[in-house]
Amino acid sequence: MYQAKAYSVTSATSPFSSDTIPRRETTGRDVQIEILFCGICHSDLHTVRDEWHSVMPTTYPCVPGHEIVGRVTKVGTEVTRFKAGELVGVGCMVDSDHICPTCQEHLEQFCNNGTFTYNSPDKHGTAPVTYGGYSESIVVDERFVLSVPENLDLAGVAPLLCAGITTYSPIRRWGDIKGKKVGVVGLGGLGHMGVKFAKAFGAHVVVFTTSPGKKEDALRLGAHEVIISTNAEEMQQHAGTFNFILDTIAADHDINAYINMLGRDGNITLVGAPETPLQVSAFALLFGRKSLSGSLIGGIAETQEMLDFCGSHNITSDVEIIPIQQINEAYERLAKSDVKYRFSIDMASLKAE
Ligand code: NAP
Ligand code: ZN
Repeated sequence: MYQAKAYSVTSATSPFSSDTIPRRETTGRDVQIEILFCGICHSDLHTVRDEWHSVMPTTYPCVPGHEIVGRVTKVGTEVTRFKAGELVGVGCMVDSDHICPTCQEHLEQFCNNGTFTYNSPDKHGTAPVTYGGYSESIVVDERFVLSVPENLDLAGVAPLLCAGITTYSPIRRWGDIKGKKVGVVGLGGLGHMGVKFAKAFGAHVVVFTTSPGKKEDALRLGAHEVIISTNAEEMQQHAGTFNFILDTIAADHDINAYINMLGRDGNITLVGAPETPLQVSAFALLFGRKSLSGSLIGGIAETQEMLDFCGSHNITSDVEIIPIQQINEAYERLAKSDVKYRFSIDMASLKAE
């Protein structure tokens, strides 16, 4: 075991502060990674503030961060896929049982014995729970380590490990969206990646936003149209016209307003995870045979496919790079939907402490 610098919170209401955490030595299939950048996902904020208490209560101290990009510093004796010096990524998962039917189908995110990157019981016993990427280094089983294309800006690659795969996966799963009318609800970390992927796959992309100030950016990011969702008239003009909508809103909202945007057999997929249940009108779904689904990140193979796609299409996240010392201010801004469009922490700032 060794000690690594990190930033942690000790309760749902305390700010982040500097800390040291235990990490295991690299044995067997382990890969030790020096973390270069880590994105700040809204799930980090939900967890830190224990907003998902009823489903996944938070254990403190909590070190979040599951949008990790870094360089391999050391590998265990059984590691075959990576060597020191390579650029790699780690997303929301660090382990699974590898033998259950969902793992066999490369859907490790649904494994009942999976381990999330932070706030999951630590099977190695290094600490009570796993600690994430707001840290100078991490040790991960090579089966949960991704190869990062060399041609992309690393600060913008980090968010691909969660925001990227979470939007890529449901868009691919929907089918061929070329020429289809696709809505992306909420222009935040997930939403802006949803726009980039939907555009890359040839959809007619429409952003729904509550922030009129984001309209120009939405068009620059690839949207063909922007609807200010608080404007009833604009909403009415598009009612019943969408094939597919991706809902990334992090807070309680009227989902029926978006179901009403779908045409016959249209689907709305939730990736946003508000802390309280949403109220769904049966009639909104019945008329038009519409469907409502959910989607959770993506499997490891699909995450690699997404990273390779980003490498060949030059896709990264639009980031605001911050030193870790500004993390508390960044959380305040994230809570107010005021980030363009993902914070990416430059971990060199932690090393310098
Ligand atoms: P984010 O950057 O904060 O973006 C969320 C966006 O939702 C905001 O930018 C805002 O967009 C909109 N929004 C926020 N509050 C709203 C409200 N009260 N009413 C209407 N719109 C509102 O968050 P994120 O990192 O993209 O994450 C979004 C959600 O997805 C979170 O709940 C997160 O936990 C969840 N998530 C799920 C998965 C998964 O696997 N399913 C993975 C990662 C994250 P506008 O300003 O454009 O309105
Ligand atoms: Zn995330």
